[in-house]
Parts: sequence; structure tokens; C-alpha cells
Amino acid sequence: MLVMKFGGSSVADAARIRRVAELVTAASGPSEAAAPIVVSSAMGGVTDRLFAIARTALGGRAAQADALARVAALQRQHEEALAGLETVSVDGERTASVDGERTAGTVDTARGRFDRYSAELRDIVIGVSLLGELSPRSLDAITSYGEKLAVELVAAALRAEGTPAEAISAEEIVVTDDVFGNAAPDMAATAARAARLSDLTRAGTVPVVTGYIGASPTGATTTLGRNGSDYSAAIIGAAVGADEVWIWTDVDGVMSADPRLVPGARSLPALSYVEASELAYFGSKVIHPRTIVPAVAAGVPIRIKNTFNPAHPGTLIGADASGSGAVKGVTVIRDLALVTVEGLGMLGVPGIAARTLGAVATTGANVLMISQSSSESNIALVIARSEVAPALLALREAFAPELRRHDVDAIGAQDGMAIITVVGSGMRGTPGMAGRFFSVLGRVGINVSAIAQGSSEYSISCVIHDGGADGTGGAGGADREHTVHDALRAVHREFIETQ
Ligand code: ADP
Ligand code: ASP
Ligand code: MG
Repeated sequence: MLVMKFGGSSVADAARIRRVAELVTAASGPSEAAAPIVVSSAMGGVTDRLFAIARTALGGRAAQADALARVAALQRQHEEALAGLETVSVDGERTASVDGERTAGTVDTARGRFDRYSAELRDIVIGVSLLGELSPRSLDAITSYGEKLAVELVAAALRAEGTPAEAISAEEIVVTDDVFGNAAPDMAATAARAARLSDLTRAGTVPVVTGYIGASPTGATTTLGRNGSDYSAAIIGAAVGADEVWIWTDVDGVMSADPRLVPGARSLPALSYVEASELAYFGSKVIHPRTIVPAVAAGVPIRIKNTFNPAHPGTLIGADASGSGAVKGVTVIRDLALVTVEGLGMLGVPGIAARTLGAVATTGANVLMISQSSSESNIALVIARSEVAPALLALREAFAPELRRHDVDAIGAQDGMAIITVVGSGMRGTPGMAGRFFSVLGRVGINVSAIAQGSSEYSISCVIHDGGADGTGGAGGADREHTVHDALRAVHREFIETQ
């Protein structure tokens, strides 16, 4: 059995959804033992707009009309896409090849659901604006509608192709905890519910399931975090024991760097699970970092493919790593801050690192990297710049006695930082990797503020200034782009293009 996940770029308009329906139909021919399971994201940009609707609603009664107008616009967008499915072929030509009666039935189902979902969304928006309160739970309820609307379109497009399909909300399949905005699945409970998907596929019907969302055991709608549809596909693939999970996007698989930033980036034929998860963790946006977890546990390979170039083999992510070169990819994460705790009085005192991390954890900040000087007089950690203020407060409180005694001299943060990481299992046991990384950054005039190597030796990360050649930090603008792009390209040239 195959799980096929389509991202927001693949379902961004009617013509693209038609293309998706063709790809799925081709994979559900009579020679296949079972139809594939489809997982879909919201149409590109829709989730962002739902977040904007939620924020607007919070503006109170005055902003309510604006928020409701945006809900109506969203409904219109989906109705127009549905109308487009009837008449516009993938290459933009008008076509009469769609069976009139079958399409009429299909469109009615989807249109009825659009009405219902819009009415529900309007009610939640009114509730938020009247109360002036937006809980994480309400935010998940609001942002879940992008996927719920999109699966109706994909299922309608499949039926118009003559492929039986049923749109299903993952609220009925994926059981999660109640950590709204970043929920984690209960795999056993999900597997029990996913049996319904296997039954459908065996009967030749394509289940079209919403990505990104799930429901808590009490039935509250949850989301898995931004970009979470990849994770949904892996959860569902593991739950049904799929042979493979295919993630369809708008590039030829996982590439050696973000192709928008590094023109020389190339497609990687194969990655190990560990390599893929390090690339994702350190900022390669092509898959959600947690996608690998259920796939590894269930031993399901993941293939990344290009909806717009389906003949390209893309990237196979599995247990084995292969391919040449020690380094497979270079990534960057931006808008970070380096928080440091330093003082000679910390030397040899046990538990400083644990207390530092503990204090930061109480603020909910996500620590991306930790680096401690070997003298133990300095510990540095990297977090998002938006998380700095509460983290500093918590640290100053936790170390108040040490600050008074001057055992800790300074607790501070430097923002406008970025992490550049090189990833590849072949670095293990290859001497001199960190040295080469430093010297290439040095050659383009970039100073390294901290370094960390994964204990697995599958990655090395450097923290650099993201603030222009003069290192003023966080200034934004052209200089800022310049430094990070120069660094990425230089590192890519050194480790990948010249291999
Ligand atoms: P989708 O809508 O399919 O979920 P995303 O926008 O989430 O697509 O992810 C695909 C994009 O990720 C690509 O268009 C590319 O610009 C970006 N990207 C960043 N790093 C990489 C990488 N290492 N390999 C491939 N794509 C990358
Ligand atoms: N639609 C969600 C988002 O934009 C999930 C996804 O696309 O993967 O974050
Ligand atoms: Mg994505």
C-alpha cells in the first residue's frame, strides 16, 4: 500500500489539483492490489490566511466584520477552484471530457461541505472576537479548516477522473495528545482507527485524508505544527503499515541546499533516516523534522518526489545511506540569538549546564544548539530571537545568587545570528571536517561565534553573524542577505560542488 502526500504547492489551484488527481489515478490502476491513501495539505497560503483570520478576530467586535469577510473570501476561493476542476485541464485548456452527471454529484457534495465548514469557522471567529481571547485550542480549530476544505477538492478531482475517492478529516483517524499547536500522535490508537483507511483502499476507494490535524482523545481538534502534513503522512503510513510514503512537493526531492538560496544545489538520490532528520532539524524546509520518527519506528521508506516533474526519481529516505562525498547537504536557520552564561566561578561547579537548560525550558523556548567551553566558564545556547526576552529573565532569576557572588559575571544575548550546518553520515571518521568548515567560512570573512558537532558525527553546526559584513547584527536588508548567502554558497562549493 502506498501513501501519497501532496503539499500546499501541489494543490495551490484547480489546474494543479487536476494534475494531482492524474498522478493518484495512475497509481490506483486495476493492476494495483489496493488504491493509495492520499494525504493533502491546505491550498498554498491558506493556512497563513487562517492564522491571519484568527489574529484579526482577536481585534474584538470592530474587527469581526473584517475577519468574517476573510472567511467568505476563503470559501469563494475554494468554490472557484471547484468550478475550475470541471472545466480547466492541467495545461489550461478548457475540456469537456468530464462526465456531466458524475461531476454534478461530486460538486454538490463538496459545495455542501464548504457551506458547513464556513458556517463552523464563522461561529468560532465570532466566539473569539466576542470573548477577545484566542486559546491554542481555538487557534487549532481555526487553522484546521485549510486541510478540511482542500481534501474536498482533491476527492472531487479524483471522482471527476473516474477514480472513487472519499474525503476524510484526520480528526477521525489521527489520535493525539492535547498539546495544541504541536500535538503528538498516540500510534496504537491511531492504528486502530486507520484500519478504516485500509478497508477503503482494498475496496478500490482512495481515502483523501487531511494532513496537519488530528484530535485529542476527547475529540478536540489539534494540529501537529506548521508544515505538519509531512508528519501526518508518516503517521498514517506507519499506522497502516504502508510499503512506502511518497511526499510530493515542488522540487526534485531533497536537495543539497535550499535551491532558492544556493543555485548550485543538486537533488540527492538517497538519504538515511538520520541524515534526513538532521537536514530537516537544521532548517531544510522540504520535510517536517518529526516526519522521520514514525517512519523509522515502522521501517517505512519515504520518497520525496516532484509533482511538476514526476519522471524524476526524487530522493529515497531509508535505513541505508549511500552516495558519494562525506557531506550530503548544507542548511541554514536564521533569526536566532546566542544566549551566553559566563563567569570564572562556574569552573568545575556541577550542574550549571542542567540549570541553564532547565531555566530556559521553563519559558517554552526551543534550544537548537548548546556549546560549552572546555574550561566550563562559558555556556552558550541558541534559541529563536523571539524567545530571548523571557529566556534572559528566567536565567537571571535562576542564577541570582551566583550573579550576586560574581561566580557568574554575565548573562546576555546576541541576536541576529544564524546556524549553518553540514550533514552527512560520511563525515563520521573523516578527519579534518570541522577545520575545513572553519577555514571556508574564514575565507569569505565570516566569523564563527560557536560550534557544535552532533555526537553521532553526522552533522557539524557553526553559529555565525547574520548581520552584514561589519557584524552589526540583526540590521536586516541587503548586507544581511549577503553574509548568510555567501556563507552557504561557499560551504556548498567546498563540500559538495567540488566533490
Ligand atoms: P510543500 O508545499 O510541498 O509542503 P514546502 O514549501 O513546505 O513544500 O517545501 C518545499 C520547498 O522547500 C522547496 O520549494 C524549497 O524551496 C525548500 N527547501 C529548503 N531546503 C531544501 C532542500 N534541502 N531541498 C529541497 N527543498 C528545500
Ligand atoms: N497547511 C499546514 C501549514 O501550512 C501544514 C502543511 O502544509 O504541511 O503549515
Ligand atoms: Mg511543507
